[in-house]
Amino acid sequence: MSVKVCKFGGTSMAAGNVIKSVKKIVESDSERKYVVVSAPGKRYSNDTKLTDILYACHTALISGEDFKGCFEPVKARFRAIVKELGMDFDIESVLNQTEERIKKEESEDFTASRGEYLSARVTAEYFGAKFIDAENVIFFAPDGTLDEAKTYPAILAAVKGVKLAVFPGFYGTGADGRIKTFSRGGSDISGAVVARAVSASLYENWTDVSGFLACDPRIVENPKNIKNISYKELRELSYMGANVLHSESIFPVRKANIPIQIKNTFRPEDAGTSIFPINRYRPDGRLVTGIAGKKNFTVIFIEKSLMNSEVGFISKVLQVVTREGVSVEHIPSGIDTMSLVIESSALEGGVLERVLQDIKNAVSPDTLRVIENVALIATVGHGMSSSVGTSARLFSAIAAAGINVKMIDQGSSEINIIVGVGNDDYEKCIKAVYREFFR
Ligand code: ASP
Repeated sequence: MSVKVCKFGGTSMAAGNVIKSVKKIVESDSERKYVVVSAPGKRYSNDTKLTDILYACHTALISGEDFKGCFEPVKARFRAIVKELGMDFDIESVLNQTEERIKKEESEDFTASRGEYLSARVTAEYFGAKFIDAENVIFFAPDGTLDEAKTYPAILAAVKGVKLAVFPGFYGTGADGRIKTFSRGGSDISGAVVARAVSASLYENWTDVSGFLACDPRIVENPKNIKNISYKELRELSYMGANVLHSESIFPVRKANIPIQIKNTFRPEDAGTSIFPINRYRPDGRLVTGIAGKKNFTVIFIEKSLMNSEVGFISKVLQVVTREGVSVEHIPSGIDTMSLVIESSALEGGVLERVLQDIKNAVSPDTLRVIENVALIATVGHGMSSSVGTSARLFSAIAAAGINVKMIDQGSSEINIIVGVGNDDYEKCIKAVYREFFR
């Protein structure tokens, strides 16, 4: 029988009434056997996420401030959830034990992880499911990455013979034996890890949106939903700033060819977005799947005659930025030119001046120019590479909107075209590209 792993995010865990819907969702499909939960998220827009309160509790604890007062809202939140669910569950003892262990451990990761721990304890009890503590089944290697060899068999052993299990997301045990968390939003990763371990047929990620939109709704009103997307396309888009899913969470499932489906807990009937490995991917029939972008890049333009025949030219330039610890976003190049596209924030505090001087010293360019306030816009879709005239349409649309293109880079994966425009033209450019390919 195939099994599905469902991860429910913070808003799905925010209050008792939503957890009731979560139970209905899980029970409506017998393949939904393994559930991974986040800590309670925001109930309304200016509410505080429980994890943020816990980080504040840790600060209070180590600085000798009012830890008890800080932890009180955490207790109140779980008491309210248990009450709303009408459960006969001794949450008080669990909260007190948790408080004691937080004081004993005095560790930021431990304290932060308790939102997921408590959320999973309550959910497991409410579902009549087995609680499997991530502490015992998710392990990190000494370098801080997931210890896959130890983790997958441990999860598999823990679920053996279990009908329905609930795991807390976000944490596991570090190589030093202490609780360690993933980065923020990391319950997405936990869900993917469990899905991988049990060879799930699908990893369902339940959020508060009906999947990905083809572009930023703050820029284009009511953009189309993306029904299907490939892992590769998502990478190209997420790296430019789309952030429904933690970007690291795709790696465990992608390796095992397990699709992900993004679903909306508040509108479970909506199709959501399915993310497929390339061999199972059926595009929607569109040339372009999505458009994403980011502002505030700096382009360092370097020109030198016969650059292409000077051995080691690019390498010398890259050594300069590497020495400064600056990472380069793109390197568009021509026969005698190359550009470094770098996030402007990485060049603050005198770094830009040093980089320019070092490039002069290293390669004596004929021209060295800096273009600031550049926004990058990626237009992404598998359909693009195989269809003649896509880039012509893209650039005509941008030109017709009166936008000056400062830089072009066609990713070597051939599923994206990135254009650099002035920050001021960012919104206008996204609108123009959207209109061309989606309206
Ligand atoms: N609760 C954690 C956070 O706020 C992890 C998660 O929600 O995925 O980052």
